[in-house]
Amino acid sequence: MFQLEKLIRPHLLSLTPYSSARDEYSGKEGIFLDANENPLGSATPDNFNRYPDPYQWAVKEKLAPIKGVRKSQIMLGNGSDEPIDLLVRAFCEPKKDHILILPPTYGMYEVSATIQNVGSKKVPLTADFQIDVDKVIASVDAHTKLIWLCSPNNPSGNVLNRTDIIQIIESVSCLVIVDEAYIDFAPETTLLTELDQYPNLVVLQTFSKAWGLAGLRVGMCFASEPIIALLNKIKSPYNISSITQKLLAEALDNVIQKDEMVQEILRNRERLKERLTELAIVETIHPSDSNQLLVKFQDSAAVFAYLLDNKVIVRDRSKVMHCNNCLRISVGTEAEDNELFNLLEQFTRQLVPES
Ligand SMILES: *Cc1c(COP(=O)(O)O)cnc(C)c1O
Repeated sequence: MFQLEKLIRPHLLSLTPYSSARDEYSGKEGIFLDANENPLGSATPDNFNRYPDPYQWAVKEKLAPIKGVRKSQIMLGNGSDEPIDLLVRAFCEPKKDHILILPPTYGMYEVSATIQNVGSKKVPLTADFQIDVDKVIASVDAHTKLIWLCSPNNPSGNVLNRTDIIQIIESVSCLVIVDEAYIDFAPETTLLTELDQYPNLVVLQTFSKAWGLAGLRVGMCFASEPIIALLNKIKSPYNISSITQKLLAEALDNVIQKDEMVQEILRNRERLKERLTELAIVETIHPSDSNQLLVKFQDSAAVFAYLLDNKVIVRDRSKVMHCNNCLRISVGTEAEDNELFNLLEQFTRQLVPES
Protein backbone atom coordinates (compact mmCIF):
# COMPACT_ATOMS: atom_id res chain seq x y z
CA MET A 1 0.00 0.00 0.00
CA PHE A 2 1.26 3.45 -0.90
CA GLN A 3 1.60 5.77 2.08
CA LEU A 4 3.28 9.08 1.33
CA GLU A 5 4.22 9.78 4.97
CA LYS A 6 6.21 6.53 5.06
CA LEU A 7 8.10 7.42 1.89
CA ILE A 8 9.12 11.00 2.77
CA ARG A 9 12.45 11.49 4.54
CA PRO A 10 11.39 11.67 8.22
CA HIS A 11 13.05 15.00 9.04
CA LEU A 12 11.06 16.73 6.29
CA LEU A 13 7.70 15.85 7.87
CA SER A 14 8.21 18.61 10.44
CA LEU A 15 10.07 21.10 8.21
CA THR A 16 9.00 24.71 8.51
CA PRO A 17 9.71 26.08 5.03
CA TYR A 18 11.12 29.52 4.36
CA SER A 19 8.29 31.99 4.27
CA SER A 20 8.98 34.60 1.62
CA ALA A 21 7.59 38.11 1.58
CA ARG A 22 5.34 37.06 -1.30
CA ASP A 23 4.12 34.06 0.74
CA GLU A 24 3.05 36.35 3.55
CA TYR A 25 1.36 38.93 1.33
CA SER A 26 0.32 37.83 -2.15
CA GLY A 27 -1.90 40.80 -3.07
CA LYS A 28 -1.04 42.80 -6.18
CA GLU A 29 -1.97 46.31 -4.98
CA GLY A 30 -0.16 48.39 -2.42
CA ILE A 31 3.10 49.99 -1.49
CA PHE A 32 5.59 47.15 -1.24
CA LEU A 33 8.13 47.79 1.48
CA ASP A 34 8.45 44.18 2.63
CA ALA A 35 11.08 42.53 0.40
CA ASN A 36 14.02 44.94 0.39
CA GLU A 37 13.62 45.40 -3.35
CA ASN A 38 14.82 48.49 -5.21
CA PRO A 39 11.77 50.78 -5.52
CA LEU A 40 13.34 52.86 -8.32
CA GLY A 41 13.58 50.26 -11.08
CA SER A 42 16.30 48.17 -12.69
CA ALA A 43 19.63 48.74 -14.38
CA THR A 44 18.04 47.42 -17.59
CA PRO A 45 15.55 48.92 -20.06
CA ASP A 46 12.75 46.74 -18.66
CA ASN A 47 12.06 46.56 -14.95
CA PHE A 48 12.68 43.39 -12.98
CA ASN A 49 12.98 44.99 -9.55
CA ARG A 50 10.12 42.98 -8.01
CA TYR A 51 10.39 39.34 -6.92
CA PRO A 52 8.34 36.95 -9.07
CA ASP A 53 5.32 34.88 -7.99
CA PRO A 54 6.86 31.92 -6.10
CA TYR A 55 4.12 29.57 -7.37
CA GLN A 56 3.69 30.96 -10.92
CA TRP A 57 -0.13 30.95 -10.69
CA ALA A 58 -0.66 32.90 -13.92
CA VAL A 59 1.32 30.26 -15.82
CA LYS A 60 -0.44 27.36 -14.08
CA GLU A 61 -3.81 28.98 -14.85
CA LYS A 62 -3.05 28.50 -18.57
CA LEU A 63 -1.15 25.24 -18.24
CA ALA A 64 -3.68 23.29 -16.15
CA PRO A 65 -6.48 23.20 -18.78
CA ILE A 66 -4.00 22.36 -21.56
CA LYS A 67 -2.74 19.38 -19.55
CA GLY A 68 -6.11 18.40 -18.08
CA VAL A 69 -4.93 18.66 -14.47
CA ARG A 70 -5.59 20.95 -11.52
CA LYS A 71 -3.22 23.85 -10.80
CA SER A 72 -2.47 22.27 -7.43
CA GLN A 73 -1.10 19.20 -9.24
CA ILE A 74 1.67 21.21 -10.95
CA MET A 75 5.14 22.20 -9.78
CA LEU A 76 7.37 24.15 -12.16
CA GLY A 77 11.13 23.82 -11.91
CA ASN A 78 14.30 25.40 -13.24
CA GLY A 79 14.43 22.76 -15.98
CA SER A 80 13.38 19.17 -15.32
CA ASP A 81 16.70 19.03 -13.54
CA GLU A 82 15.13 20.76 -10.54
CA PRO A 83 12.27 18.30 -9.87
CA ILE A 84 14.65 15.40 -10.63
CA ASP A 85 16.93 16.70 -7.87
CA LEU A 86 14.10 17.62 -5.48
CA LEU A 87 12.50 14.17 -5.72
CA VAL A 88 15.75 12.56 -4.61
CA ARG A 89 16.16 15.06 -1.80
CA ALA A 90 12.57 14.64 -0.63
CA PHE A 91 12.45 10.85 -0.56
CA CYS A 92 15.92 9.30 -0.42
CA GLU A 93 17.97 9.06 2.77
CA PRO A 94 21.66 9.21 1.75
CA LYS A 95 23.61 5.94 2.05
CA LYS A 96 20.40 4.14 2.96
CA ASP A 97 17.78 4.48 0.23
CA HIS A 98 18.20 4.08 -3.51
CA ILE A 99 16.53 4.86 -6.79
CA LEU A 100 15.86 2.34 -9.57
CA ILE A 101 16.74 3.18 -13.17
CA LEU A 102 16.40 1.28 -16.44
CA PRO A 103 19.46 1.84 -18.63
CA PRO A 104 20.04 2.97 -21.26
CA THR A 105 18.25 6.11 -20.17
CA TYR A 106 18.66 9.79 -19.31
CA GLY A 107 21.82 10.38 -17.28
CA MET A 108 20.52 12.95 -14.79
CA TYR A 109 18.58 10.45 -12.64
CA GLU A 110 21.76 8.70 -11.54
CA VAL A 111 23.82 11.90 -11.33
CA SER A 112 21.25 13.61 -9.09
CA ALA A 113 21.15 10.55 -6.83
CA THR A 114 24.94 10.28 -6.69
CA ILE A 115 25.29 13.95 -5.73
CA GLN A 116 23.09 13.20 -2.70
CA ASN A 117 25.06 10.01 -1.92
CA VAL A 118 22.03 7.94 -2.91
CA GLY A 119 22.59 4.69 -4.82
CA SER A 120 21.13 3.74 -8.20
CA LYS A 121 19.93 0.17 -8.70
CA LYS A 122 19.83 -0.79 -12.38
CA VAL A 123 17.45 -3.08 -14.22
CA PRO A 124 18.36 -2.75 -17.90
CA LEU A 125 15.73 -2.36 -20.56
CA THR A 126 15.42 -5.34 -22.90
CA ALA A 127 17.35 -5.33 -26.20
CA ASP A 128 14.34 -3.70 -27.89
CA PHE A 129 14.28 -1.01 -25.16
CA GLN A 130 11.21 -2.21 -23.27
CA ILE A 131 10.73 -2.85 -19.55
CA ASP A 132 11.59 -6.19 -17.97
CA VAL A 133 8.56 -5.83 -15.70
CA ASP A 134 9.07 -8.91 -13.53
CA LYS A 135 12.69 -8.02 -12.88
CA VAL A 136 11.81 -4.41 -12.00
CA ILE A 137 9.14 -5.49 -9.53
CA ALA A 138 11.38 -8.19 -8.04
CA SER A 139 14.18 -5.63 -7.55
CA VAL A 140 12.12 -3.27 -5.41
CA ASP A 141 12.72 -3.45 -1.66
CA ALA A 142 11.90 -1.28 1.37
CA HIS A 143 14.72 1.14 0.48
CA THR A 144 13.68 1.63 -3.15
CA LYS A 145 12.08 5.08 -3.11
CA LEU A 146 11.90 6.19 -6.74
CA ILE A 147 11.55 4.22 -9.97
CA TRP A 148 12.50 6.28 -13.02
CA LEU A 149 10.83 5.45 -16.34
CA CYS A 150 11.49 7.56 -19.40
CA SER A 151 8.87 7.43 -22.16
CA PRO A 152 9.57 8.18 -24.96
CA ASN A 153 12.98 7.04 -23.77
CA ASN A 154 16.24 8.89 -24.28
CA PRO A 155 18.45 7.76 -26.10
CA SER A 156 16.39 5.01 -27.78
CA GLY A 157 13.51 7.31 -28.72
CA ASN A 158 10.70 4.77 -28.26
CA VAL A 159 7.65 4.79 -26.02
CA LEU A 160 7.59 2.19 -23.20
CA ASN A 161 4.60 -0.18 -23.20
CA ARG A 162 1.77 1.42 -21.28
CA THR A 163 0.56 -1.86 -19.74
CA ASP A 164 4.06 -2.43 -18.34
CA ILE A 165 4.18 1.05 -16.81
CA ILE A 166 0.74 0.61 -15.24
CA GLN A 167 1.65 -2.82 -13.91
CA ILE A 168 4.69 -1.37 -12.15
CA ILE A 169 2.70 1.53 -10.69
CA GLU A 170 0.10 -0.91 -9.36
CA SER A 171 2.65 -3.38 -7.97
CA VAL A 172 4.93 -1.12 -5.93
CA SER A 173 4.46 1.20 -2.97
CA CYS A 174 7.24 3.64 -3.90
CA LEU A 175 6.98 6.51 -6.37
CA VAL A 176 7.02 5.78 -10.09
CA ILE A 177 8.20 8.78 -12.09
CA VAL A 178 7.48 8.81 -15.80
CA ASP A 179 9.71 11.34 -17.55
CA GLU A 180 7.73 12.49 -20.59
CA ALA A 181 10.22 15.06 -21.92
CA TYR A 182 9.33 13.98 -25.49
CA ILE A 183 5.59 13.48 -24.97
CA ASP A 184 4.54 16.12 -27.53
CA PHE A 185 5.88 13.79 -30.23
CA ALA A 186 3.64 10.94 -28.98
CA PRO A 187 0.90 12.78 -27.06
CA GLU A 188 -1.58 9.89 -27.02
CA THR A 189 0.77 7.91 -24.77
CA THR A 190 0.84 10.33 -21.82
CA LEU A 191 0.28 8.97 -18.31
CA LEU A 192 -1.17 12.32 -17.17
CA THR A 193 -4.64 10.83 -17.68
CA GLU A 194 -3.87 8.39 -14.82
CA LEU A 195 -2.72 11.02 -12.31
CA ASP A 196 -5.92 11.00 -10.23
CA GLN A 197 -5.98 7.22 -10.19
CA TYR A 198 -2.47 6.59 -8.80
CA PRO A 199 -1.12 8.54 -5.80
CA ASN A 200 2.36 7.11 -6.42
CA LEU A 201 2.58 8.40 -10.01
CA VAL A 202 4.69 11.45 -10.87
CA VAL A 203 4.89 12.72 -14.46
CA LEU A 204 7.66 15.04 -15.65
CA GLN A 205 7.45 17.09 -18.83
CA THR A 206 9.53 19.99 -20.11
CA PHE A 207 9.40 23.15 -22.19
CA SER A 208 12.89 22.32 -23.52
CA LYS A 209 11.99 20.09 -26.46
CA ALA A 210 8.76 20.50 -28.46
CA TRP A 211 8.08 24.00 -27.10
CA GLY A 212 11.53 25.14 -28.23
CA LEU A 213 12.33 26.81 -24.90
CA ALA A 214 15.44 24.95 -23.73
CA GLY A 215 17.16 28.26 -23.00
CA LEU A 216 14.43 29.36 -20.58
CA ARG A 217 14.95 26.31 -18.30
CA VAL A 218 11.46 25.19 -17.31
CA GLY A 219 10.38 21.69 -16.36
CA MET A 220 6.91 20.58 -15.32
CA CYS A 221 6.22 18.12 -12.52
CA PHE A 222 2.69 16.70 -12.19
CA ALA A 223 1.63 14.67 -9.16
CA SER A 224 -0.90 14.40 -6.36
CA GLU A 225 -1.50 17.53 -4.25
CA PRO A 226 0.47 16.25 -1.21
CA ILE A 227 3.55 15.48 -3.36
CA ILE A 228 3.38 18.87 -5.08
CA ALA A 229 2.98 20.58 -1.69
CA LEU A 230 6.09 18.78 -0.45
CA LEU A 231 8.17 19.80 -3.50
CA ASN A 232 6.98 23.40 -3.13
CA LYS A 233 8.12 23.29 0.48
CA ILE A 234 11.69 22.33 -0.39
CA LYS A 235 12.26 24.19 -3.68
CA SER A 236 14.06 27.51 -3.69
CA PRO A 237 11.38 30.17 -3.15
CA TYR A 238 11.63 32.14 -6.40
CA ASN A 239 12.78 29.38 -8.73
CA ILE A 240 11.18 30.69 -11.95
CA SER A 241 12.14 34.24 -12.95
CA SER A 242 9.54 36.85 -13.80
CA ILE A 243 10.65 37.16 -17.42
CA THR A 244 10.42 33.38 -17.78
CA GLN A 245 6.90 33.42 -16.32
CA LYS A 246 5.90 36.13 -18.77
CA LEU A 247 7.33 34.25 -21.77
CA LEU A 248 5.72 30.97 -20.64
CA ALA A 249 2.32 32.65 -20.53
CA GLU A 250 2.91 33.84 -24.11
CA ALA A 251 3.95 30.36 -25.24
CA LEU A 252 0.87 28.82 -23.64
CA ASP A 253 -1.28 31.22 -25.67
CA ASN A 254 0.44 29.87 -28.76
CA VAL A 255 -0.01 26.09 -28.52
CA ILE A 256 -0.74 26.06 -32.25
CA GLN A 257 2.81 27.03 -33.15
CA LYS A 258 4.21 24.31 -30.89
CA ASP A 259 1.90 21.78 -32.55
CA GLU A 260 2.94 22.94 -36.03
CA MET A 261 6.62 22.65 -35.14
CA VAL A 262 5.99 19.13 -33.79
CA GLN A 263 4.30 18.12 -37.06
CA GLU A 264 7.20 19.52 -39.08
CA ILE A 265 9.77 17.71 -36.93
CA LEU A 266 7.81 14.46 -37.26
CA ARG A 267 7.74 14.86 -41.07
CA ASN A 268 11.48 15.59 -41.06
CA ARG A 269 12.10 12.54 -38.88
CA GLU A 270 10.28 10.24 -41.30
CA ARG A 271 12.10 11.70 -44.29
CA LEU A 272 15.49 11.41 -42.61
CA LYS A 273 14.74 7.87 -41.50
CA GLU A 274 13.74 6.81 -45.01
CA ARG A 275 16.87 8.28 -46.55
CA LEU A 276 19.20 6.81 -43.93
CA THR A 277 17.93 3.30 -44.67
CA GLU A 278 19.39 3.70 -48.20
CA LEU A 279 22.93 3.91 -46.83
CA ALA A 280 25.10 0.78 -46.68
CA ILE A 281 26.90 2.05 -43.55
CA VAL A 282 23.63 2.11 -41.59
CA GLU A 283 22.83 -1.15 -39.83
CA THR A 284 19.73 -0.31 -37.79
CA ILE A 285 17.51 2.67 -37.19
CA HIS A 286 15.70 2.09 -33.93
CA PRO A 287 11.96 2.87 -33.94
CA SER A 288 11.43 6.41 -32.64
CA ASP A 289 8.40 8.10 -31.10
CA SER A 290 10.33 11.32 -30.46
CA ASN A 291 12.62 13.84 -32.17
CA GLN A 292 15.72 11.65 -32.00
CA LEU A 293 16.90 8.71 -34.08
CA LEU A 294 19.20 6.13 -32.52
CA VAL A 295 21.16 4.81 -35.48
CA LYS A 296 23.51 1.84 -35.47
CA PHE A 297 26.39 2.13 -37.92
CA GLN A 298 29.01 -0.40 -39.03
CA ASP A 299 31.65 1.85 -37.47
CA SER A 300 30.10 4.65 -35.42
CA ALA A 301 33.45 6.10 -34.32
CA ALA A 302 34.51 6.74 -37.93
CA VAL A 303 31.13 8.26 -38.80
CA PHE A 304 31.15 10.42 -35.68
CA ALA A 305 34.66 11.74 -36.46
CA TYR A 306 33.78 12.40 -40.11
CA LEU A 307 30.68 14.36 -39.17
CA LEU A 308 32.55 16.32 -36.53
CA ASP A 309 35.28 17.21 -39.06
CA ASN A 310 32.48 18.66 -41.17
CA LYS A 311 30.96 20.56 -38.24
CA VAL A 312 27.92 18.32 -37.83
CA ILE A 313 27.61 17.29 -34.21
CA VAL A 314 25.63 14.23 -33.15
CA ARG A 315 25.67 12.37 -29.84
CA ASP A 316 27.96 9.38 -29.43
CA ARG A 317 26.00 6.77 -27.48
CA SER A 318 28.20 3.84 -28.50
CA LYS A 319 29.45 3.19 -24.94
CA VAL A 320 25.92 2.99 -23.54
CA MET A 321 24.14 -0.32 -22.81
CA HIS A 322 22.54 -1.95 -25.90
CA CYS A 323 23.87 0.95 -28.01
CA ASN A 324 27.09 -0.47 -29.43
CA ASN A 325 28.06 1.51 -32.57
CA CYS A 326 25.07 3.82 -32.10
CA LEU A 327 24.87 7.55 -32.65
CA ARG A 328 21.89 9.56 -31.47
CA ILE A 329 20.77 12.07 -34.05
CA SER A 330 18.39 14.89 -33.16
CA VAL A 331 16.02 15.63 -36.04
CA GLY A 332 17.00 18.98 -37.55
CA THR A 333 15.50 21.34 -40.08
CA GLU A 334 15.03 19.99 -43.59
CA ALA A 335 18.22 21.77 -44.69
CA GLU A 336 20.22 20.46 -41.72
CA ASP A 337 18.99 16.91 -42.30
CA ASN A 338 19.93 17.19 -46.00
CA GLU A 339 23.42 18.34 -45.03
CA LEU A 340 23.77 15.40 -42.65
CA PHE A 341 22.53 12.96 -45.28
CA ASN A 342 24.87 14.33 -47.96
CA LEU A 343 27.85 13.94 -45.64
CA LEU A 344 26.88 10.38 -44.76
CA GLU A 345 26.46 9.58 -48.45
CA GLN A 346 29.91 11.04 -49.20
CA PHE A 347 31.38 9.03 -46.34
CA THR A 348 29.78 5.85 -47.70
CA ARG A 349 31.12 6.53 -51.21
CA GLN A 350 34.66 6.94 -49.86
CA LEU A 351 34.42 3.54 -48.24
CA VAL A 352 32.99 1.73 -51.26
CA PRO A 353 34.24 3.49 -54.39
CA GLU A 354 31.88 2.92 -57.30
CA SER A 355 33.40 0.76 -60.05
C1 LIG B 1 15.93 16.75 -22.57
C2 LIG B 1 15.40 15.91 -21.46
C3 LIG B 1 14.86 16.50 -20.32
C4 LIG B 1 14.75 17.99 -20.21
O1 LIG B 1 15.52 18.51 -19.23
P1 LIG B 1 15.34 20.08 -18.92
O2 LIG B 1 16.12 20.21 -17.66
O3 LIG B 1 13.86 20.31 -18.71
O4 LIG B 1 15.86 20.83 -20.07
C5 LIG B 1 14.35 15.71 -19.32
N1 LIG B 1 14.36 14.38 -19.44
C6 LIG B 1 14.86 13.77 -20.54
C7 LIG B 1 14.80 12.31 -20.67
C8 LIG B 1 15.40 14.53 -21.57
O5 LIG B 1 15.91 13.91 -22.65
